[in-house]
Amino acid sequence: MSTNKIALVTGGSRGLGKNMALSLAKKGINVILTYHSQQAEAEGVVAEITAQGQQAVALQLDAANVQGFDAFFEQVKAALRNTFDTDKFDFLINNAGTALYALFADTTETQFDEMMNIHVKGPFFLTQKALPLLNDEGRIINISSGLARFANPGSSAYASMKGAIEVLTRYQAKELGARGIAANVVAPGAIETDFGGGRVRDNKEINEHLAGVTALGRVGLPDDIGGVVAFLCSEDARWVNAQRLEASGGMFL
Ligand code: NDP
Repeated sequence: MSTNKIALVTGGSRGLGKNMALSLAKKGINVILTYHSQQAEAEGVVAEITAQGQQAVALQLDAANVQGFDAFFEQVKAALRNTFDTDKFDFLINNAGTALYALFADTTETQFDEMMNIHVKGPFFLTQKALPLLNDEGRIINISSGLARFANPGSSAYASMKGAIEVLTRYQAKELGARGIAANVVAPGAIETDFGGGRVRDNKEINEHLAGVTALGRVGLPDDIGGVVAFLCSEDARWVNAQRLEASGGMFL
């Protein structure tokens, strides 16, 4: 059942973003997904979505480089015109991100700036520049982290940025409500992806530790997250606004 709606998912080539793209397509939503360097992975996701009967396009984006956003949105406009025969899209999912594990005392200014650029400044201006292309009644979903609620040593810079995106989400909801646009946060707990060199998935000790502090007794899988984002893009979620939805199996309760 196709809805003719279109979602733009940043970092849709792998991990959580890939699962979000596939889950959105399952709900009949077409997808523009972005990749940073893994074009072949992204084209694989496009092929899976196309096989599900939805339309999809993959575009390159450095979500940390605001200077590149105008050129990126020219590509989005072309994709909207050429592939979807429209000039607007409906859902923006700010998901692209990279990890940093460094104690507060050791975090360098360069590391801090990297985290700031990809997790705060990038989504801030990407969303601002997306506004003319976003349909009224559209939705913005910002991906945060359980680490913005609980403190685990080694994540002070990363988690501070995720905290910032949560505050920004409330301002977006307040200021864009007049256009019927809702903004919400999805905050995953620890999930088995390539993130941080795949440490949650591949390091047995870390995996077992995190499972042990999770009420449901295991770490998360990408499939635990994509459907939550797809739900927030569904008609059933139309009255959910300015909320933080943590999907962590109940970590550190
Ligand atoms: P992955 O490392 O599996 O995937 C990262 C994705 O982001 C890829 O699609 C990658 O593209 C893209 N990406 C990386 N750098 C850039 C960049 N500079 N510009 C644009 N795109 C980029 O990570 P996850 O799927 O696990 O993480 C997705 C989001 O979820 C992040 O925001 C992360 O902070 C958050 N999160 C993750 C958790 C986890 O445990 N996994 C827990 C809580 C939150 P490419 O394939 O081309 O490299």
